[in-house]
This record gives sequence, structure tokens and C-alpha cells, in this order.
Amino acid sequence: MRRREFLCSAGFWPALQPAQQPAFDLLIRRGRVIDPSREFSAEADVAIRSGRVASIAAGLDPAQARQVLDARGMIVTPGLVDLHVHVYDGVAPLGIPADPNCIAKGVTTVLDAGSAGAHTFPGFRQYVIRIVETRVYALLNISVVGQATLSTDNPHGELLDLRYANPKLAIRTIEQNRDVILGVKIRLSKNIAGENDLRALGLAREAADAVGLPLMVHIGGTHSTVAEIVSRLKKGDVITHSFRGGDGGILDGRDRVLPEVRKAVERGVLLDVGHGAGSFSFRTAEKTFPQGVLPGTISSDVHQFNVNGPVFDLATTLSKFLHLGLSLEEVIRRATSNPAKAFAFPSGTGSLAPGGTADVSVFELREGRWEFVDALGDRRTGKLKLIPMATVKGGRLYGNAVIPVVRSG
Ligand SMILES: [Zn+2]
Repeated sequence: MRRREFLCSAGFWPALQPAQQPAFDLLIRRGRVIDPSREFSAEADVAIRSGRVASIAAGLDPAQARQVLDARGMIVTPGLVDLHVHVYDGVAPLGIPADPNCIAKGVTTVLDAGSAGAHTFPGFRQYVIRIVETRVYALLNISVVGQATLSTDNPHGELLDLRYANPKLAIRTIEQNRDVILGVKIRLSKNIAGENDLRALGLAREAADAVGLPLMVHIGGTHSTVAEIVSRLKKGDVITHSFRGGDGGILDGRDRVLPEVRKAVERGVLLDVGHGAGSFSFRTAEKTFPQGVLPGTISSDVHQFNVNGPVFDLATTLSKFLHLGLSLEEVIRRATSNPAKAFAFPSGTGSLAPGGTADVSVFELREGRWEFVDALGDRRTGKLKLIPMATVKGGRLYGNAVIPVVRSG
């Protein structure tokens, strides 16, 4: 009895308790947090626990965290979402490895835009999506071969023979992979679809409608006019390469936005950038923005033939839009909450809402004289560039952070 009293007395029990656990696994301290999904833009700390955002507030106690990242002077955003990349490395000639070009550059979630079709998708799932650290989702190419045929050495694309456009197979593949396929992709340039563009678009429409997912359409250098193409698009569909120069863009011969494009935007068609090697022009953007037409999403279309310039990565692409006059918040919105809304990504993607998966990116907004080059080789000198500094996926710091980890537990 005496012993029992002793055990229960105050002062003894605490000594039996395990050492107190830190409240947070990771604290990203004192950065400027920009989360357009919640209209949040202020200096704050981001606290992460068990892979989720636990709290965003000023002055959280660093002693309460196992690991602390010093983000003073940095920009802290939701993990970026790039709606147009090509990461079927080794199969699609355009493909590049996902991780060094996406998650290592602050992009935690990507949409591979049609590298795989019904016949090549199982390999994409098995050897890319399943394996890489970057969260990879896909748009299924309406052509069964995906983008396996076109390269600089063999510039003959996947829809020159319309028999490769197979809605039935596309529908079956999407039904079997709905967790990762979020829509249908079609490329319509003459070297890819010849004179088949509108018929191929009809087949892609059929597949997208059957599975109730959006269609992303690549414009530029098409046999049919942009007006004919966009008039077939519905609310939720996406035009990529919207701000391209030259043939088949959204401007008429007098640099006015085509009325059919305006009407498409009014009915809910999204204009995506998809910079790519041939599909973004400073001049087009400079002519278009004053007419009140802006991109809904800014994507890179990063691939083999632009990753060493002029695209490099999504952060560089976003910096070009800072130069074009968009605010930092406007630019981050177009690479976080806007793309997250455009396709059925898991809830919480592109947001730092407490309780959600902790995908977080840290950038330096570095001042200087930055020379930016568009897809036509036109140059502009900007004053600001977003430089990726650290990426957190599911609460875990990705291995290439270049800012100090103050404490590592
Ligand atoms: Zn592309």
C-alpha cells in the first residue's frame, strides 16, 4: 500500500514519462508565405507535423520543432504544380527525368501532357509514376503511341495516321488508371496531325466526354484555324501554348485576340502557357495582356529540347511573367491554386491549408539583371528571378535544399 502511494505521488510520475516529443517535425521560419488558395501573403512560420501542415503563424517556437529551416528573406509557397511537362524519360524522345527537373526545382506535382498513349501508359505508370519522388499525374494522349514517334530527327507525329487515335482504348486505359490520369491530351500541329486535326479532335472529345475529364489541346501551326479548333472546346478544357508566336496563335493579323478565343475563355476554357521550345513569345504576351487576356495557368512544357534553355524550369518560366508585370502573388497563383483547380488533383494540392499534405517550396526572389529568352529567341532583361532553394514533400525535406537547416534532429 505504501509503495502504491509512493508511485502515485507527484514528482515521481514525470520521471517515468518518455522525454517530451517536439510538437513539430519541421518548422520553416520567418519566410514570406504566399498561399493564393487562402489569399494569404505575409511573413509567417510554417509548422509541419506527421506529413501535414500543422500551423501557419508568426512567432512559433523553434524549440518545439525537431528540424528548423531558416527562410528569412525567402518566399515560401505551396509545392508548385506544373500542368505541362514531359517526363517519360527513355520512351518519348522529349522525355526528361522527373526528379532533377521537377521536385528538385520546387515543383512537387506535375501533369505529364500526353507523353503516353493507351499502348505506352502501362510503362509510364510502372517505370515513372510509381518510382519517382515527384508526384506525377498524366494526361493520356488520344494516340495509342503517345509521343513516341516525334523527335528532331524524325519530325512525324502521332496523329499523321488517324488509325492511332483510338477513343475506345483511351477510355479503357483511363478507367483503369483514374487515380493518376486526369484528362486527355491532343497535339494538332501539321507535323503531328497533318490534315486530320479536326477529326482527331473529335475523337479526343469523344474519349474525354465518355470519362468526364477535361481535354488539353496543343495549338500552333495547325492545318485548321485556331478559331475552328477552340470553338470545339468546352468549359474546363485547356488550351496549351496559348501565348505562342507565329502561326496559329490566339492573335489575328492585327494583334487582336481572336473573338473565338475570348468566347472560349468566357465559357470557361482555360488558357495555359506551356512555354516549350516553340510555344511562348514575349511579344504575344505583351500584345495580349493589355487586351485583358491573361493565362489561367503558367506551365513550363519542360522537355529534352528546352531544359537547357530557354525554359530551364518552372521557376524561370514564372520569373518571365514577373518581368511581364504580374505580381508575385499572381504568378504563384497560376502555378499553385489555379492548376490545382483545373484538374482533379487530390484535395489540398497547391495549398498550404492546415491539415493538408505538407508540400512546400522555398524560393529566393533574387534581384539582378536577368536575361530571359523566349521560344523565338527574343530577349528581355528582368530584375527578379525566382531561385529554388528547398522543397518539402509530404513533410519531408527533399535532399537538395540549399538553405541552412538550423537544427536537424
Ligand atoms: Zn508538350
